[in-house]
Amino acid sequence: EHAGKQSGDAFRAHNLCSNGYGAMASHIVGYPRMGPKRELKFAMESFWDGKSSAEELQKVAADLRSSIWKQMADAGIKHIPSNTFSYYDQVLDTTAMLGAVPSRYNWNGGEIGFDIYFSMARGNAIVPAMEMTKWFDTNYHYIVPELSPDVKFSYASHKAVEEYKEAKALGIDTVPVLVGPVSYLLLSKPAKGVERSFSLLSLIDKIIPIYKEVVAELRAAGASWIQFDEPTLVKDLDTHQLQAFTHAYAELESSLSGLNVLIETYFADVPAEAYKTLTSLKAVTAYGFDLVRGAKTLDLIKEGFPSGKYLFAGVVDGRNIWANNLASSLSSLQAIEGIVGKDKVVVSTSCSLLHTAVDLVNETKLDQEIKSWLAFAAQKVIEVNALAKALSGQKDEAFFAANAAALASRKSSPRVTNEGVQKAAAALKGSDHRRATNVSARLEAQQKNLNLPILPTTTIGSFPQHADLRRIRREFKANKISKEDYVNFIKEEINKVVKIQEELDIDVLVHGEPERNDMVEYFGEQLSGFAFTANGWVQSYGSRCVKPPIIYGDVSRPEPMTVFWSSMAQSMTKRPMKGMLTGPVTILNWSFVRDDQPRFETCYQIALAIKDEVEDLEKAGITVIQIDEAALREGLPLRKSEEAFYLNWAVHSFRITNCGVKDTTQIHTHMCYSNFNDIIHSIIDMDADVITIENSRSDEKLLSVFREGVKYGAGIGPGVYDIHSPRIPPTEEIADRITKMLAVLESHVLWVNPDCGLKTRKYAEVKPALTNMVTAAKLIRTQL
Ligand code: GLN
Ligand code: ZN
Repeated sequence: EHAGKQSGDAFRAHNLCSNGYGAMASHIVGYPRMGPKRELKFAMESFWDGKSSAEELQKVAADLRSSIWKQMADAGIKHIPSNTFSYYDQVLDTTAMLGAVPSRYNWNGGEIGFDIYFSMARGNAIVPAMEMTKWFDTNYHYIVPELSPDVKFSYASHKAVEEYKEAKALGIDTVPVLVGPVSYLLLSKPAKGVERSFSLLSLIDKIIPIYKEVVAELRAAGASWIQFDEPTLVKDLDTHQLQAFTHAYAELESSLSGLNVLIETYFADVPAEAYKTLTSLKAVTAYGFDLVRGAKTLDLIKEGFPSGKYLFAGVVDGRNIWANNLASSLSSLQAIEGIVGKDKVVVSTSCSLLHTAVDLVNETKLDQEIKSWLAFAAQKVIEVNALAKALSGQKDEAFFAANAAALASRKSSPRVTNEGVQKAAAALKGSDHRRATNVSARLEAQQKNLNLPILPTTTIGSFPQHADLRRIRREFKANKISKEDYVNFIKEEINKVVKIQEELDIDVLVHGEPERNDMVEYFGEQLSGFAFTANGWVQSYGSRCVKPPIIYGDVSRPEPMTVFWSSMAQSMTKRPMKGMLTGPVTILNWSFVRDDQPRFETCYQIALAIKDEVEDLEKAGITVIQIDEAALREGLPLRKSEEAFYLNWAVHSFRITNCGVKDTTQIHTHMCYSNFNDIIHSIIDMDADVITIENSRSDEKLLSVFREGVKYGAGIGPGVYDIHSPRIPPTEEIADRITKMLAVLESHVLWVNPDCGLKTRKYAEVKPALTNMVTAAKLIRTQL
């Protein structure tokens, strides 16, 4: 079928002539799937909507795979990965491979097709989807396997072998990539109703036979390398968990014999104990390490590396968009070669390139100077190859010189450095930045002005964003409508939102955020030091992608960002109008962050900019200001030992933003998650007056966590209904939730609000839902 035979030969020939005697020792851990213009996203969504056929979707996917393989082959990469493509997620692909389909999907055996696969990923009319959770500390989400002691595993998806063969037919011999068996189990969760004592790792002997079948088929198809991704090795593992690696790879040893076996780790350094376990695995011939985030692994390598084995040195950052410092990488690689031996070092990426943007070529609007500082996935492939060639004595001097010039320009650019900002941020370190009065006294002072009823009602910020609104913003940006027309349109929208809330009798109002496309982009566009891409998309989950801003320079705020709209909104009502800001930690965690200074320094700079905004809002008469920290938890490091340091500067950054306001100014914060049992003390340390949080599962455990909060005295608003669903929560249900909360929280601290912003909902859902929310709050008030 594939017209590949001929072009495949052409590519091999290209490799041969481009470097004399065959491809250099270079490797890519994995590659983005969506395509340079999100082709896969649109193909999938069209298929899900019934607008195109399975064959059409498969064709788009096959074209993307072949163009990626060819691109890597063309660049000269020796170890090109396959099976890193996915229609949804690589962990879900592994669940399919193992036939570990939860029973609710009524799978009848046989090869798993789109129907079962997408039902697991997205749910269907009858059963909900499997749970999704964050992939380590990235913004990618994987589908969590649900396992019970009696799962019957079977080899039910031959995708890994099919992709290997598909590449082979194009003349490209790839390294098939599998999620390793131990990481697979460690990333799973026990199915509902399974006893607590059940150990997921006890399933290892049941999944190994499937892995053996896969390996045998890959070998039969001609594979000479296999890559097992075992990223859990960088986490805090106990002896029992480490033993599972020893056991699993000993079991696999005979079926792997004669093959080159790469165990790939990423996202952090490998702890000493894990390194010992890993390097003692006999079946393994190569190790992949993240040397960008895990530079400490180098010390372990220096102390000892198994002789005769390969080291895949991840020196090109898969998590960011900066051009590599080639000279510095080359000298590290040479040093590593000195330790592990000549021809034993393979140049690689720090992790899969899935977590960076796809191709700089499509950035036609970024200015040349900034563009020269960047490398997206396609450029990183070239960097890896250039380093591999240089390591083998064929340095492309011109390429290295251009890279050095770009780095020098970035270092000396006045757009990057703002001495005033540097000084102000440096002065923050070591001090505490706390409001002078404690929270109870502040709330009392605020209440004198606000006069709120008990169980005050509010919303989290955004109101529905309809197509007209998005069109107006687009047209204004493109200079197609005048500023005056734009302002009038937004003013009308705000007015509508204010009127609705007054009619609903909500106590603390919001302006609805109609002027904002995205809670980070909106601020980034107004701050200096930020750049925006046209196509710098990164997969978040399934077909969903995000386009993080790039923080390239010192951050400052040239002028007020929200005061105009917030004071306009306040002038429309007598009720308190919340000023609405995104906090520094969230702006940081949802951006590509500069790599030439520590993250906390960048965060302090953003905090100072937001502080200016908070104080300007206060001056403009705004008495309630919400500073969203939706992504504070996301920044938690992978290892316990590093948590305290992060939480300390993150929480400090938040406090910097509002330490200067009067007691009578009420500071709210909002967080989009509820699992912070472990970081509750940090949340309290943020010292906000009111905290609203997601609580869609009405988790009593969560509320008990807030007993701590009660001692502290701040207002708490656990969401009373789930905004992620179009369902309208009945009054009784909300009232019931409030009652349950009151069993744990004192009535004077409890706020009543939805889980999160309403921008993804329709007015037809929002109005009745909020009506019921206010009715429920009033009902309970009468019972107090
Ligand atoms: N204020 C934002 C909104 O309502 C908060 C969104 C969020 O927490 N993700 O849209
Ligand atoms: Zn939220």
